[in-house]
Amino acid sequence: MSRFSTDVVNSILPYVPGEQPQDKKYIKLNTNESPYYMSKTALESIGEKELNSLRLYCDPDAKLITKEIASFYGVNEENVLVTNGSDEILAFSFLAFCKGKPTAFADVTYGFYKVYAKIFEVLATEIELLDDFSLDLQAFNNFNGNIILANPNAQTGLFVENDKLEEIVKSHKNNLVLIDEAYADFANSTMANLTKIYDNLLVTGTFSKSRSLAGARLGFCIGDKQLIDDLKKVKYSFNPYNVNSLSQILGYKAMADRDYFYECCNKIIQTREKLKISLKNLGFEVLDSKANFLLVRSNKISGKELYERLKDLGILVRHFSDKRICDFVRITIGTDEQMNVLCEKIRLILGEKQ
Ligand SMILES: *Cc1c(COP(=O)(O)O)cnc(C)c1O
Repeated sequence: MSRFSTDVVNSILPYVPGEQPQDKKYIKLNTNESPYYMSKTALESIGEKELNSLRLYCDPDAKLITKEIASFYGVNEENVLVTNGSDEILAFSFLAFCKGKPTAFADVTYGFYKVYAKIFEVLATEIELLDDFSLDLQAFNNFNGNIILANPNAQTGLFVENDKLEEIVKSHKNNLVLIDEAYADFANSTMANLTKIYDNLLVTGTFSKSRSLAGARLGFCIGDKQLIDDLKKVKYSFNPYNVNSLSQILGYKAMADRDYFYECCNKIIQTREKLKISLKNLGFEVLDSKANFLLVRSNKISGKELYERLKDLGILVRHFSDKRICDFVRITIGTDEQMNVLCEKIRLILGEKQ
């Protein structure tokens, strides 16, 4: 800490990203990236001309990709904002709609909500998940303030039917309800269409998980024009050129290649369902995830030890030290072959414990 840091900075506990080791080659199942390469048409869209375009500033309105996202979700361009990862949308939203206001999110969810709440001085309430790790919908319904929910939820992967969330949107007419759909493509679901009916609903999405572009940093949100205009105000007061020109092209092409997108999502969903069965057969408790990861625990080995043993054997998974989920590990769904290696190593580790 320097002598110059403010109280806000002194008091924040920054978000801790999953490991991105550069030393050795791991089977990387710790940060929910896609195991599949980006769309081929996206890959082939970058040549010398596009690289040379980096001489100029990018399009601050990111028009091409905005148009493609609007078309995919069946909304108008004025209802879409593209950002540098969906983390940026979250930051903009916390600043635009939550600063100084009561805002609720789950106690076990995406770790960034808590960090943003702190940095933007939000009056945050954490609503505990129920014993079975599902959302306490009743408590959210009764909460008087803004609501932030990930669906499927982060860390648990549990999915709530959209009509249940629509109830919350309806009962919060004078508050923002932000639904973080980072994993919704793996549940074949979105509430984007409902933004046409409810002007208090903001839906966020990302290219990091289902569109194989985590490193390109592309996120977006869909909502009523007035919400989007507020967020644009924040963007243009912060960083107008927030999405670089190469990412704009890649995102546009990836969004347009719908066949490849559905192919990848379907493969990941199939692999997920197979892995659920394999891990249950190995004695694991497996939450019924609709995301591209599984949260699992075994009564034969602690979450921390399983994480460490797998790391020794060249497989990275995620372990969280939070009280509620420290017995678990979170495993990103990879390819079928990667999941076979994973199960083989887990069998080995559990065998040693006998
Ligand atoms: C990964 C993730 C994000 C952030 O994604 P980026 O677009 O890479 O910033 C947002 N919300 C949840 C729940 C996530 O898991």
